[in-house]
Amino acid sequence: MNEHGGICVFSEAYDLTLEMLGRARQLADKLHTELAAVQFEENAQEKTQDVIRYGADKVYLVDNPALGVFQGEGYLSVLHDIATRYHPEIFMIGSTRNGKPLAARLAARLDAGCVPDCIRLDVDGGGRLMGERITYGGNAVAKVAFKSKPQIVTVPARAFEKATLQERKGEVVKLDVKIEPPKVEVVERKPLETSSERVEEAEVIVSCGRGLEKKDDVTLLKELADVLGGQVGCSRPLVEDRKWFSEWIGLSGHKVKPKLYIASGVSGVIQHVAGIRDAKIIVAINKDPEAPIFEIADYGVVGNLYEVLPALKEALKKQLQ
Ligand SMILES: Cc1cc2nc3c(=O)[nH]c(=O)nc-3n(C[C@H](O)[C@H](O)[C@H](O)COP(=O)(O)OP(=O)(O)OC[C@H]3O[C@@H](n4cnc5c(N)ncnc54)[C@H](O)[C@@H]3O)c2cc1C
Repeated sequence: MNEHGGICVFSEAYDLTLEMLGRARQLADKLHTELAAVQFEENAQEKTQDVIRYGADKVYLVDNPALGVFQGEGYLSVLHDIATRYHPEIFMIGSTRNGKPLAARLAARLDAGCVPDCIRLDVDGGGRLMGERITYGGNAVAKVAFKSKPQIVTVPARAFEKATLQERKGEVVKLDVKIEPPKVEVVERKPLETSSERVEEAEVIVSCGRGLEKKDDVTLLKELADVLGGQVGCSRPLVEDRKWFSEWIGLSGHKVKPKLYIASGVSGVIQHVAGIRDAKIIVAINKDPEAPIFEIADYGVVGNLYEVLPALKEALKKQLQ
């Protein structure tokens, strides 16, 4: 292992692993160090080779049936084992529901620093990792530098671009890790009553807020979303107060990054806006010209959503025919 000890990337979400590898490769080149990724599926030969083609120098392969389903102690055993065997100086862990607590537990076990949800990562002249994360409900960016090693960060989906796929060679290291038994037991799993499509992955989102009067009126949004090949989203009150949806967009809900976000009957308060800041184009439809959503919208329509949405749908239908 060279001077810097390397970068180690892990997420149970494959796409997120590839996105992290994109940035990690650049950092590894800057630090003249090695980039490793952790993988749990022995049979995924193709994936392992792809992880290398997307930038990893090395893949730590751990094949253990106990790792088939996420459980904190098991995943922690693997990362802790890698930390003590290979001493990577940077751990990049996917900011998923599982990844965040995993990173925190690893940091506690290694007595290391941990910065969650980094949307930018760089190294300073001394090779220290610097992470940037959104704070104050999306109103500020905090830049954090590590004072000790290893440096552990979590990275949300779509913060970085995947690297370009290249023909590269890398090493596959099979690790035999002693997996700690779990301290909790999953007694039941049942599907959530949600739509099968994930709003976080949608390229077009047509969303509604309290301006929508009746549940049945969601059809208006669905019809427009269908024309654009998108999905429907909403603000938090439509879930918490009205119980029309099961998931919302915003600070305490999903952070989305669509190419197009159409907000209708949404006031655009800070908690909602925190979840849509990364949308490429925001279109706001609101009957109140003073609504805060217009401050961040690229295009604004002051009007009644009950008139604007159907008109927009018809106009787009004609255009797209
Ligand atoms: C800790 C915390 C976390 C929160 N997290 C989130 C979050 O993640 N996401 C979130 O969304 N909220 C969140 N909230 C709630 C947030 O503060 C707001 O209450 C909420 O976003 C407002 O939702 P809204 O815009 O749908 O409703 P309103 O603020 O009531 O706005 C409705 C808008 O619709 C317009 N309107 C009405 N009728 C029409 C019509 N016919 N045509 C066009 N426009 C019309 C009105 O002019 C108004 O601007 C959070 C709150 C707290 C305290």
